Amino acid sequence: MNGAEFFRDTQETIRMAVERLGHPDSAYKILRYPRRTLEVNIAVTMPNGSTETFLGYRSQHAAVFGPYKGGVRFHPNVTKDEVEALSMLMTLKNAVLGLPYGGGKGGVICDPTALDESTVEQIARGYVRGLKDMLGPHKDIPAPDVNTNSRIIGWMLDEFLKIAPELDFSVFTGKTVNLGGIEGRTEATGLGIAFATREACKVRGIDLTGARIAVQGFGNVGKGFAQSIAHMGAKVVAVSDISGGLYNPNGLDLDTLSAYQAANKVVRGFPGADAVTNAELFALPVDVLVPAALEGQITAEVANTVRAPIVAEGANGPTTPEGAKVLFDRGIMQVPDILANGGGVAVSYFEWVQGRQGGLRWSLRAVERRLDRYMTEAFQAVHSYSLGHGVSMREAAFLFAVDRLAKGMIERGWVRP
Ligand code: NAD
Repeated sequence: MNGAEFFRDTQETIRMAVERLGHPDSAYKILRYPRRTLEVNIAVTMPNGSTETFLGYRSQHAAVFGPYKGGVRFHPNVTKDEVEALSMLMTLKNAVLGLPYGGGKGGVICDPTALDESTVEQIARGYVRGLKDMLGPHKDIPAPDVNTNSRIIGWMLDEFLKIAPELDFSVFTGKTVNLGGIEGRTEATGLGIAFATREACKVRGIDLTGARIAVQGFGNVGKGFAQSIAHMGAKVVAVSDISGGLYNPNGLDLDTLSAYQAANKVVRGFPGADAVTNAELFALPVDVLVPAALEGQITAEVANTVRAPIVAEGANGPTTPEGAKVLFDRGIMQVPDILANGGGVAVSYFEWVQGRQGGLRWSLRAVERRLDRYMTEAFQAVHSYSLGHGVSMREAAFLFAVDRLAKGMIERGWVRP
């Protein structure tokens, strides 16, 4: 799916939700486009002394409940349409979780893996200079996303503080703990998926102790999830990465596997497990399947092979609309991305609150307990909505978010009921 299709699909999802909820069409008219998108042309001095330019975007979708919030990615496939669609999904994700934010997203068209560090730093600083009037702790609060991390956020923060009237570090989240970041931010998305999975297992009458789990993708999200769910007593029996998959029905030793992956860069060849393809991983006899790698993985064809009663989405958009329909028709619970992987932005919110509280440190335990509450409440709200309206968890999450947004817009007088 290209960026333009992704944008139209996201618009259509919002349109259908507004219509189904019976809210005024003007609610859709406001939500169908971002409030604004800025394009920046970033000039950089390359290692050979030549000047190169990189295009970047920041999209601010709808600030119904508070300032814009969402990550910045550095990737060669970034497009304006993709960034705008992702900002719309951030509005919905923040609304599902009840965070006091609107949706934002940013991106720069570049491949940081092929650039030297000084070039990446100049891109990060140039991006912030181009956006300076849009950003602020009460305006728009960016965070890391694909190919960006706390180091890049450190440069962005420094550049912003050079030009901002006040030294307020809470303009970015995903900072190092040393610079006012929060404990547990890196693992937050995976831990949040584990909490959502625990709730889904309760609903489906599956005992989490010994429950069999398969995870596609063993990166930040997949590994964080696998470790968290194993701590809760489940058995991770299969994982995969770009090199292929591993399966051991008795459970994988995740610490040894992580050490193996660190040494070999891939999971392929790990002893003590059978090799499986990604297609085989989706069809394993497990209790929970977690796609945590890429979008568009569970097509209708793949959905027909899934044997897990629960699919909890770690990645953004891992199931196609046709795949989602097959899962629902087959009685498989799809815990959708905008609910399941919201732990990252929830803990970003805690980091922002920590900064607003004058930097008073939150303990890791406090972060985890508060995240548990946010994820559990959001899961239960979406699940009740799904039961009450006879719709899938995916549809329920979108309806629940759009309902909250439309009501907020009516309360603020943006939309006449
Ligand atoms: P990552 O780059 O750390 O990990 C991705 C993993 O997927 C790697 O193990 C990679 O080898 C694997 N992979 C890539 N192609 C694959 C393929 N064809 N088959 C199987 N495995 C493959 O990325 P991440 O940060 O873990 O993000 C994963 C997904 O989660 C993305 O969709 C991202 O948008 C989403 N997400 C991430 C966060 C976050 O906090 N990092 C938050 C919300 C959503």
